[in-house]
Amino acid sequence: MDSISKFKHLAENAVLEPAEETSLRPAPQLAPCGIPLTDQTPNRQPPISKQTQAASLHKDLGIHHAKMPGGKTIPLLKTMLTSACERNCYYCPFRAGRSGRRVTFKPEEMAQSFMDLYRAGVVEGIFLSSGIIKGSINTQERLNITAEILRKKHHFGGYIHLKVMPGAEKEQLRQAMRYVNRLSVNLEAPNDKRLALLAPKKQFLAELVRPLQMIEEIRQNEPGHMGWNGRWPSTTTQFVVGAVGETDLELLSTSEYLYKQVRIARAYFSSFRPVADTPLEHLPPSNRLREHRLYQTSFLFRDYGFDLEDLPFTQEGNLPLEIDPKLAWAQSHLQDNPVELNRAERQELLRIPGIGPWGADSILSARRVGTLRDIDDLRHIGVQTKRLKPFVLLDGKRPTFQLPLW
Ligand code: SF4
Repeated sequence: MDSISKFKHLAENAVLEPAEETSLRPAPQLAPCGIPLTDQTPNRQPPISKQTQAASLHKDLGIHHAKMPGGKTIPLLKTMLTSACERNCYYCPFRAGRSGRRVTFKPEEMAQSFMDLYRAGVVEGIFLSSGIIKGSINTQERLNITAEILRKKHHFGGYIHLKVMPGAEKEQLRQAMRYVNRLSVNLEAPNDKRLALLAPKKQFLAELVRPLQMIEEIRQNEPGHMGWNGRWPSTTTQFVVGAVGETDLELLSTSEYLYKQVRIARAYFSSFRPVADTPLEHLPPSNRLREHRLYQTSFLFRDYGFDLEDLPFTQEGNLPLEIDPKLAWAQSHLQDNPVELNRAERQELLRIPGIGPWGADSILSARRVGTLRDIDDLRHIGVQTKRLKPFVLLDGKRPTFQLPLW
């Protein structure tokens, strides 16, 4: 089978992950080693017309328009070295024993095939994962060799995101870090108990958390100029949401640890979708709104200074679905104690609904040259004012706002 046919075959079972850095965008369906699943809706056909040929080609090959750190969007090839796997994760279409054709690339072939697409202007970056064959160490080695060939032989200077295999060794991680922009280790579940129900052959701490810790140890203790572009890569992870009874509290408590202790750039939350001919095929798909609330909350940890204790969990340990978690916090803490925007610290500003890091910095800049007296002053500096009105004072006065009709 030629390489284009292999890419197409892989893309039939896997679609591209959401943009690398887009926020609050619905996540893909659950991901086998980071490759989200296609929509399983019968008879779903992409529109084919002259106007959509390029988009159709991208979809056929598994190319996704991904937003890079810094904001640039590039066409990213998301693919696998092999769709064969000796493990049997309960949710995965590539699990051992499931029927279906498997395809495999050699590292040199993958690198050359990617470069052919790159030189043709079809892709600008690659996200490379793999099923596990002859053990994780061997598979990680093949992933690393692919990245090395791209950098050293083909002098590829673009974006490489490599998936870390469960149980990869520290020296392998160090090698990978020299060639890539991003490494990701999918925890899939928030703890060992839940993981055993999803992926019984994966060891939560030893195989999944430990590699993220080792990457952070290298970033902390070894000079970043060893990285191909003078910096060490960022890290991400992904959780499958809603398959095995895990609570939001469990997911977010692990996410908070990862953001604060091993400095991941992002936790992805992927709503569970059942895959035919897998042990979890009988389960219902999980609620996408839950996934959205988890994203919102994880960004409160990462960008807004919130802690787990700030969040309004139900008795069952889940977030209320009907309300934005930041708004819920503000309603119970700020409604009767509005924040004076002319005096608040940055961290206080970030707690106000409608004010993000950019808005907080704009307010701080504006205060250096004058007093913010009314809502129009905020609008003039580009701050969204719709949601903040009930929670702020401007020069000692509350802005007028209409109470919600409930
Ligand atoms: S290790 Fe698990 S999730 Fe990854 S490809 Fe194999 S069966 Fe799928």
